[in-house]
Amino acid sequence: MTADSTVSTQGADYAATASTAYQNILQVIETVEPRIAAATRKELADQRESLKLIASENYASPAVLLTMGTWFSDKYAEGTVGHRFYAACQNVDTVEALAAEHARELFGAPYAYAQPHSGIDANLVAYWAILATRVETPGLAELGAKHVNDLSEADWEKLRAKLGNQRLMGMSLDTGGHLTHGFRPNISGKMFHQRSYGTDPVTGLIDYDALAAAAREFKPLVLVAGYSAYPRRVNFAKMREIADEVGATLMVDMAHFAGLVAGKVFTGDEDPVPHAHVTTTTTHKSLRGPRGGLVLATEEYAPAVDKGCPMVLGGPLSHVMAAKAVALAEARRPEFRSYAQAVADNAKSLADGFLSRGGNLVTGGTDNHLVLLDVTSFGLTGRQAESALLDAGIVTNRNAVPADANGAWYTSGIRFGTPALTTRGFGADDFDRVAELVVEVLSNTTADGSSKAKYTVADGVADRVRAASGELLDANPLYPGLVL
Ligand code: PLP
Repeated sequence: MTADSTVSTQGADYAATASTAYQNILQVIETVEPRIAAATRKELADQRESLKLIASENYASPAVLLTMGTWFSDKYAEGTVGHRFYAACQNVDTVEALAAEHARELFGAPYAYAQPHSGIDANLVAYWAILATRVETPGLAELGAKHVNDLSEADWEKLRAKLGNQRLMGMSLDTGGHLTHGFRPNISGKMFHQRSYGTDPVTGLIDYDALAAAAREFKPLVLVAGYSAYPRRVNFAKMREIADEVGATLMVDMAHFAGLVAGKVFTGDEDPVPHAHVTTTTTHKSLRGPRGGLVLATEEYAPAVDKGCPMVLGGPLSHVMAAKAVALAEARRPEFRSYAQAVADNAKSLADGFLSRGGNLVTGGTDNHLVLLDVTSFGLTGRQAESALLDAGIVTNRNAVPADANGAWYTSGIRFGTPALTTRGFGADDFDRVAELVVEVLSNTTADGSSKAKYTVADGVADRVRAASGELLDANPLYPGLVL
């Protein structure tokens, strides 16, 4: 790949057509609220001019983005395909069925549900589908009822108490888990009695034996695998073995690495879909689609997932489901496999670039799309490092490292991801140069002892790094040929 694969591989006509479309759209917006049109232009300019290394972000194609701006936004369609609580949903049915079909084909899943508005919604659908399948349905049978509405108030209260008293085990936040995996500030931590598993304190890797021992003791109903900041692959076959042994349902949240699954970088034991009972994902990270969620399930859990509306969702975002269908169609193309492989190769190059310059990486490296740099060796907190990098035009996010002494707000780490810049066409050498620029900023930044947020970057460094990254950005333009 030499340049932005979402535009350049489509040819000059595609870029010209997209330019006309966006010029017209902005002109229409300008007639109503010119400040929104101006902010929209500015956002593209800013994204074009910065090194975007946020692991959860990407650049969706014009086809995906444009698909969201249509009258499907105006349509209510509660229910599922062919079974709606509103009239005139025939075209939404087409859209939702196509999104689900592409998802099933792409991931080899028996069933796909395209309605969740986001990752958190997808996880809520999954949790309640598991609770419905494993607790509510057998509970109804025990009480001799078919539907919750048939229960007396006393029986319903008994069943509700049971639903609200189940156990979930997920990865701890400081070792890379996500808030939606049972943490108290999130609804998942209020619904479930949660216990975390962590990583080995020496290697930083998941210790499957320790995890199995903890699961045997805790006996969760739901075992969650998946992460936001763990720079390694997970063995989902082992996860399933553990789940089976303790009678848990295995739910995998592949929000971060769905693109690597779609692009067949993660196969066999590293592909969650054949091993998990329920797999959830966002569609906007490495998968490079619109902002949204998706749930994949086995036949056993499909009927309950299909009731995501009314369980936890209202009307689906039909315009976004349409864009999911377009993005999933893109991900089924052979180019997406090259893209996904490049994402992983580039992460390795970035990690090696840090290591060769003395950087300290959580787990000592990466074999997925993200790298977690412990910045305490530069004498900085994550907050100081994030701000100093931003001064130099490098966009990252601070992140806790295992047993982080600086806590979840200031943190000791910076998380880097390769999906976005790989979409621009960055290759392994470019990522080595990115590592060099990051190290140049951090090694020229001094912490201000009075606060974990204050710092000073040595004179001239931010400008020098901005100029150097400008060369990389110019060589790999975002949406080449797209003129506003
Ligand atoms: N699950 C994981 C693993 C995530 O990393 C995220 C977001 O960062 C989510 C779920 C939530 O996704 P959303 O922001 O779309 O709700």
